[in-house]
Amino acid sequence: MRFDQVGGQCTALYPEKPIYDIPGHPRIDAADLVEKLKEQAAPFKPVYHLNQQVEGLERHGESWRVTTSTARSSMPSCRHRRGCRASVP
Ligand SMILES: Cc1cc2nc3c(=O)[nH]c(=O)nc-3n(C[C@H](O)[C@H](O)[C@H](O)COP(=O)(O)OP(=O)(O)OC[C@H]3O[C@@H](n4cnc5c(N)ncnc54)[C@H](O)[C@@H]3O)c2cc1C
Repeated sequence: MRFDQVGGQCTALYPEKPIYDIPGHPRIDAADLVEKLKEQAAPFKPVYHLNQQVEGLERHGESWRVTTSTARSSMPSCRHRRGCRASVP
């Protein structure tokens, strides 16, 4: 498993593969789809926690605590969120 890039299987396993079942795209290569998704997410200023392995996930009331190989972060529950960005104490 690689933790140094976004895109999951699309990036790691088949970046050159054409995908035909994405709404609004009659055909799009997997790597291009990942680029489009990054572009779409950019205005929300996502924080990418690369090179960290998630080791624990605990619910604390309305938020979640994520423990990774390098940090512990709290993030609001998506149901009640104004944004799902993690805040690292
Ligand atoms: C050859 C192939 C062709 C496919 N073609 C299509 C298609 O045409 N259309 C389609 O709809 N679907 C297709 N799929 C399925 C599609 O790729 C998956 O459904 C999709 O990637 C799932 O997305 P995901 O974000 O849930 O998980 P993933 O893409 O698997 O991403 C999970 C990410 O989390 C990371 N991760 C895992 N565990 C941890 C951890 N403990 N800590 C930190 N990070 C972690 C992984 O490294 C990865 O980057 C295909 C799959 C394959 C293998």
